[in-house]
Amino acid sequence: MINENYLKLSESYLFADIAKRVQTFKAENPKADVISLGIGDVTQPLAPAVIEALHKATDEMAVASTFRGYGPERGYDFLREAIVEHDFRSRGIDIEADEVFVSDGAKSDTGNFQELLSAKCVVAVTDPVYPVYIDANTMAGREIVNLPCTAENGFVPKLPKRHVDVIYLCYPNNPTGTTLTREQLKMWVDYALANDALIFYDAAYEAYIQSEDVPHSIYEIEGAKACAVEFHSYSKTAGFTGIRCGYTVVPKTLKEPLNKLWNRRQSTKFNGTSYLAQRAAEAIYTPEGKTQTKATIAYYMENARMMREALTGMGFKVYGGIDAPYLWVSTPSKMTSWEFFDWMLHSAHVVCTPGVGFGAQGEGFVRLTAFGTHENTEKALRRINSKL
Ligand SMILES: *Cc1c(COP(=O)(O)O)cnc(C)c1O
Repeated sequence: MINENYLKLSESYLFADIAKRVQTFKAENPKADVISLGIGDVTQPLAPAVIEALHKATDEMAVASTFRGYGPERGYDFLREAIVEHDFRSRGIDIEADEVFVSDGAKSDTGNFQELLSAKCVVAVTDPVYPVYIDANTMAGREIVNLPCTAENGFVPKLPKRHVDVIYLCYPNNPTGTTLTREQLKMWVDYALANDALIFYDAAYEAYIQSEDVPHSIYEIEGAKACAVEFHSYSKTAGFTGIRCGYTVVPKTLKEPLNKLWNRRQSTKFNGTSYLAQRAAEAIYTPEGKTQTKATIAYYMENARMMREALTGMGFKVYGGIDAPYLWVSTPSKMTSWEFFDWMLHSAHVVCTPGVGFGAQGEGFVRLTAFGTHENTEKALRRINSKL
């Protein structure tokens, strides 16, 4: 007998469909220079400080006296202490090192953490959404409530009319690139406190925030340490999509003993992030590491600025792209997401991501990413402009 919940998963054709259409187009137009503004992966290499740390850690592994085997289950102290100091205390947030669990990335943790909760919990997710939250809870057989994020509500989800036990929030948001202000986030913390709900806060794009009034962590909001678990990732922060490292904050002040339970869960099913990846992550917090990763983020955000400016100038309605590497673009002339995708591919030879792939409310939008090079981004924008 299989877990029948897996049969309820909606098939994820989005990226396969995109690849298929691009492949067909390239086969029919072998000379076309197709530019992708659809990729959700970074393209710039790792920072020199990170590379240096990787080499050094590799050399340590080559000598018996400095070799490291299994590490501590929550992650090495050197990394957890750097996290606490640089990501929290420097912002006036009081998080302790034993509230931090180092992981191999935020996808695993945002997907796995729900294991600690009852199958009876009702789970709220935004629409459009990062599909991991829905699929992980569907596998566990939970009921899911959608919170529509539309141009009309400024992509700020409204509080649910019915009671929910769990709320996934991702800000800066993938795919819309929009953010919540402190006041908007406080509304959710207050809801969770008043309704005995738990917030899963995905802060994967925190490092892209430029605006002053956008919170970097949910723990900037009073009361959040009693109702929220926060997920971080070095994937977008420092180009770690291939290295694999992130962390999750599980406050000891949550109403239920989730810190203890997550420790139990991780020590049973996870044997830690590699020593090399943790040394690499530590290097991001050195003065050189900080400067270098900031420069790469500034590079991507310059793409975002160029895209926003050019597309707005062409008459498109563009959202996001100010505090996130994503732009959420309304399709022209009431085209569907896929119709506009095809137009972009066939006319401008540019690949985007159809918004409908992220949820029903994504229909009529496409997602563009700022993870390309300046040259390709500029070229793509010029081509779109010339084909309008
Ligand atoms: C990229 C991304 C992550 C990070 O995943 P990793 O497993 O750390 O690479 C998490 N959440 C969202 C919404 C993302 O887009």
